[in-house]
Amino acid sequence: MAQTLQFKAESKRLLDMMINSVYTHKEIFLRELISNASDAIDKLYFISLTDSGVGLNKSDFSIKIDVDNDSRALVITDNGIGMSQEELENNLGVIAGSGSFNFKSENADNADIEIIGQFGVGFYSAFMVSKEVEVRTKAYGSDTAYLWKSSGVDGYTIEACEKDGAGTEIRLSIKDNTDDESYDEFLAQWKIKQLVKKYSDYIRYPIKLDMQKESLKEGTGVDDIPPEYTTSVETQTLNSMIPIWRKNKAELTDEDYNKFYKEKFYDFTEPLKYVHVKTEGTATYDSLLYIPAAAPMDFYSKDYEKGLQLYSSGVMIMAQCADLLPDHFAFIRGLVDSQDLSLNISREMLQHDRQLKIIAKSIEKTVKNELKKMLDNDREKYESFWKAFGLQIKFGVYNSYGANKDSLKDLLMFHSSFDKKLVTLSEYVSRMKEEQSVIYYAAGESVDKVDLLPQTEVVKDKGFEILYLTENVDEFALQMLIEYEGKQFKSVSAADLDIDTPEEKEEFKKLAEENKDLFEEITKALGGKIKSARISEKLKSYPVCLSNDGNISLEMEKTFAMMPNNDKAVKAEKILEINPNHDMFGVLQKLYESDKKKLTDYSKILYTQALMIEGMPIDNPAEFSALVCEVMTSN
Ligand code: ADP
Repeated sequence: MAQTLQFKAESKRLLDMMINSVYTHKEIFLRELISNASDAIDKLYFISLTDSGVGLNKSDFSIKIDVDNDSRALVITDNGIGMSQEELENNLGVIAGSGSFNFKSENADNADIEIIGQFGVGFYSAFMVSKEVEVRTKAYGSDTAYLWKSSGVDGYTIEACEKDGAGTEIRLSIKDNTDDESYDEFLAQWKIKQLVKKYSDYIRYPIKLDMQKESLKEGTGVDDIPPEYTTSVETQTLNSMIPIWRKNKAELTDEDYNKFYKEKFYDFTEPLKYVHVKTEGTATYDSLLYIPAAAPMDFYSKDYEKGLQLYSSGVMIMAQCADLLPDHFAFIRGLVDSQDLSLNISREMLQHDRQLKIIAKSIEKTVKNELKKMLDNDREKYESFWKAFGLQIKFGVYNSYGANKDSLKDLLMFHSSFDKKLVTLSEYVSRMKEEQSVIYYAAGESVDKVDLLPQTEVVKDKGFEILYLTENVDEFALQMLIEYEGKQFKSVSAADLDIDTPEEKEEFKKLAEENKDLFEEITKALGGKIKSARISEKLKSYPVCLSNDGNISLEMEKTFAMMPNNDKAVKAEKILEINPNHDMFGVLQKLYESDKKKLTDYSKILYTQALMIEGMPIDNPAEFSALVCEVMTSN
């Protein structure tokens, strides 16, 4: 008798969940086992291409389903790669592939339904319908076969056994019916046939089932009374085997495409869009590309791995080929199947493969065109795409020193002062006023907050539209673009906003000269915190605001300060702008003549106010508060 081994703790929990599952779609166990069998065959088929010792042709591989009604057993057999004793222990004793489980297991009770539905849980799902599971397996190249047996959480045994040829046979002793549930149907031919069609139709190896067939006995006819029948057994292949991407587009419906996506990429929600490409020419390939409706949880983290599945003439050669997608389209899911790629190409060689590069370029172009088409023809859908993945496109404009900016600039969208909705750069430019020469933008935390910035007042007053940048990357992306259709971008916070008429300019110039000493005194009072103080041309109702000289804007300073290992030295060159039409200005003028100490205090308070309006940190809040009190209590 073989020794009973214990499952690892988390496997035990999952197993327990499976056994006691109330999940209504228990039927998915068959899909899971068939997928495993297909993967195992993939592996051996791959070896067979270079190792004649395997002794099997492609057409020799199959997955066989047998029903043993007497012992209520369902047997799934593959002639794939099999498992060694060690693999049996590691693969079936420990929950391996389902990393998703660790992630979900914290969420207690209702977790099971979610996990099963969302991810599928592989091999253990067999326990949803079985009271005992036996795995008889022989690894390719090994002389010994092993039998793994378990009836659930109590553990499992492994012992040597007899088995011809490499591969795996999984025998499920189907549960007895209970008052609430009937398990009989999992032994019924019609049901098995239905399940294979539903879940495993694209498996590339034949899934075979022996079907009982009744036919009239030879030499008899339907007219004989009673008619005589004989039962024969016919092995039927249940799946169509042709992968969806190889099929003719005309044969396929939206539902086919979406269903495939959901099953293949474990997404609950329908994709926003699919593209089925069949190309011949410099690169010959079929591809199926999907834009998901929402960003996966880890999308904007470094854990996210981009990539498409890569097939060579229907055989998967890489589960996630990152080189097929540029970073800015990392959200695309899907696959590529090309006869131009050699089957036994190594990962390293693939990276340098010319053909792969051509395919990648072509895919990039396809995605770009599809997005542009969506933007032009289905605005609502595009905006929903933009919400999910716009950030990635903006990073794409900025990254690689702007190498991709020209191809991406027409996909960009920002909110704007026009009606607070998303606008494209092209829409902005088409609405520009005759006397307007630049594209204005303002940056801040949210659309509402930007809308309240003092610096936007005069620009809006003149009837110019302002782009509202609310994400850190936005301003960097615009700076990388430099211009759009010959129009430069200009921050409303720029010191040289240059928005006034010649007459207004003349007036400001005069004011600036008359108050030169006052501004020098204020600059001095702020002791190096600002580059200079001066008359503001952009304020209407607020007394002060900050603007910046040079390339580092106030928003950028905030962004740099937020970065890990932040570089505090990266600072905007700040200008304190003072509104000459505000009562405060007259007060400052008077203080300059009568009370320099008070002018210094007022300057500090006004500067701090400007920082607050800008949403920037105050250097020393305690000092500021003391200063305000001092001013409030003096006379
Ligand atoms: P997953 O398939 O997600 O990795 P499973 O629990 O379904 O998780 O299977 C665990 C592992 O057991 C597989 O990764 C595979 O290595 C091995 N395995 C399962 N079924 C078979 C099989 N029929 N033939 C060979 N190996 C198998």
